[in-house]
Amino acid sequence: MPGLEDLYREIILDHYRAPRNRGELPVPPARKVEGFNPLCGDEVVLYLDLDAASGEVRDLRIGGQGCSISQASMSMMSAEVKGKSVDGARRLIRAFKALMSIHESKLEGDGDGADLAAELKGVRLGDLEALQGVVKFPVRIKCATLAWNTLQQGLDEAAAD
Ligand code: ZN
Repeated sequence: MPGLEDLYREIILDHYRAPRNRGELPVPPARKVEGFNPLCGDEVVLYLDLDAASGEVRDLRIGGQGCSISQASMSMMSAEVKGKSVDGARRLIRAFKALMSIHESKLEGDGDGADLAAELKGVRLGDLEALQGVVKFPVRIKCATLAWNTLQQGLDEAAAD
């Protein structure tokens, strides 16, 4: 019987092989943000179309290249965030980073991350939990969080306009 880890690996590979929302959007009105993870050579490109009036992520597209974890994470992020409010997207960013931080402290054997767990309360992570299941080393966590840090950068830049 396949274990949970096999299931997680399948979810990651599915997103890696068939990334959601891949493509580009015209800039402007969309905003282009890029992120790099020099530790692994991952790059992500994000096109964000934010609706200022409704405060929603109207559309987004992704591009870039890198390892399966970085690219799957970006695909999952795009699927979760599209159509969400900017506030909802920010909540998800915090929750995902908390999930990874808890995981990292477990991998490094310090702390139980009880304070971080508060960020996760009431947030549905769905497929995103699969990333926690396949990231085996703290250094790979940078691969998983790259897309989310890039999204955060895009939202911050838009808020500063
Ligand atoms: Zn990577």
